[in-house]
Amino acid sequence: MNLRRNSSDPGGGEVGSARHLILIAFDEVALKRGQRSRFIEQLRRNILDQIDCEPGRLALRHGRLELEFRPESEDELWRRCSSSLGRVFGIKWFGRAEAVPVDLDALEAAVVRRAIAAVESGARTFKLEHSRKNKAFPIESQELNRRVGARVLQAAPELSVDVHQPELLIVVEIRRDQVTVFADRQPGADGLPIGTTGSALALLSGGIYSPVAAWYSMKRGLRVECVHFHSPPYTGLKAEEKVRDLVHALNHWTPEPVRLLLVPFSRIQEEIAERIPAEYWTIVQRRFMQRIAGRLAEQCGFDALVVGDSIGQVASQTLSNMAAIDAASPHLVLRPLLGFNKADIIARARTIGTYEISIRPFEDCCVLFAPRKPAIQCDLKVVEAHERELNQDGLIDEALESLTSS
Ligand code: ATP
Ligand code: MG
Repeated sequence: MNLRRNSSDPGGGEVGSARHLILIAFDEVALKRGQRSRFIEQLRRNILDQIDCEPGRLALRHGRLELEFRPESEDELWRRCSSSLGRVFGIKWFGRAEAVPVDLDALEAAVVRRAIAAVESGARTFKLEHSRKNKAFPIESQELNRRVGARVLQAAPELSVDVHQPELLIVVEIRRDQVTVFADRQPGADGLPIGTTGSALALLSGGIYSPVAAWYSMKRGLRVECVHFHSPPYTGLKAEEKVRDLVHALNHWTPEPVRLLLVPFSRIQEEIAERIPAEYWTIVQRRFMQRIAGRLAEQCGFDALVVGDSIGQVASQTLSNMAAIDAASPHLVLRPLLGFNKADIIARARTIGTYEISIRPFEDCCVLFAPRKPAIQCDLKVVEAHERELNQDGLIDEALESLTSS
C-alpha cells in the first residue's frame, strides 16, 4: 500500500493504471441461496444480449458485475449502455466507475477525475462517501472525506459541498485489492433476470392492461411470449400493427425478441354471436381464448398463462367470471395486476412505453362482440350448457391451423 503523494501529479492524475468500468449491482439475485450462481450467469448473458454496444469484459467481482472498457470510449459507451442497462431486469443499480490500486494518490486522482467530468456536465454541488471495507487501510473514512474533499475543491473550484442534496455523489470503496470510485449511480429495473423462473404465454389484447401484465411477468424472471386473437375483417391492419408495436415496446426489456402468435378469432365469435345468449358472449369468448392459449402452452412448453385483468376493473371481471374463465384450461393463470389500481397501471404503461400505443383508436375483437349487459355472476354449469351448442374442438383446430407468428 502506497501512501506517498506523487508530487508531479497536477490533480487529474495518471489514468494508466485505472480500469474504467460500469459497476452493476444485483437486485434480489443476491438473496437466492443455492441458485445464486445460476441467476448471476443468466443476468450476465442477458446484459450482453441487451446492451446495444461493444460489451468489453463483463466479470463478477466483489459480488457485482464489472463491465470494463477502454477509457477513450467511455462517454459514448456510457450514453448508449446506460439507457439499455436501465431496462435489464435483475439490476438494482449501475454506475460509472474507476478501479485503481490501493493507494492514496491513485484514489485522490480518480475522485478528482470524476469530479472534473461531472463539472463539465454541469454539476455544482457534491458529496463524498468513503466505505473502508479494507480495515487495514490506515486512514479512516471521516478523515478521507475531509482530505480528499479538500483536494476536489482545490482541483474543481466550481464545486461546493452539499451533504443533503448533492448533484454529484462520489462513492469510494476501499477493498483489499482495489479502490473503486463511482459517480452517476442510476437505478436499475429491479426484479429477477429473465429466464430464471420459467416461461409464460401472455394473452395480449390491444388494451392498456395486458402489456403491463406481460411486463410484470418478465420482471419476475419469466421468459414471455404473446398471443393475440384478432378478427379480420372486423378488425383491420391498424389493429394488428398496434399489437405488433406493443410487442416491439416490450422487446426493449428483454434479451431476446418476444414472439407474437396471432390467432384468427372471427369465426369463433360469429358462432358465439349466433348460438349463445348475448349476456354470455364475453365469458365464452374469454374461455375460448383460454383454451387456445392452453393448447399453445402445451405445445410450446409454457409453464403458465398471463392475463391483464383484475378484480372489478371492468364489470365482467368478477371472481365467479374469472373462475369460469380459468376452468376452461388446466394451466396456471397469472394475473399480475391484481393488486394495482388503475392510475398505477396507467403510470406504469407510460414509463414502459406502451401507453401511447394502447390508446390508439383501433379496437380489438372483444369490443366489437361485446354485449350491452354482460353476465357478472355467471354459473359455470349454465355456461357449459350453452357451449355444447358449439363445435368447440372443430373451431379451435380451425383457428390453430391458421395461426401465424412473428
Ligand atoms: P386490456 O386492457 O388488457 O384489454 P381490459 O381491461 O380491456 O384489459 P378485457 O378486454 O376484458 O379487459 O380483457 C381481459 C384480458 O383478457 C386482457 O388483459 C388480456 O389478457 C385478455 N384478452 C382480451 N382480449 C384479448 C385478445 N384479443 N387477444 C389476447 N388476449 C386478450
Ligand atoms: Mg380489453
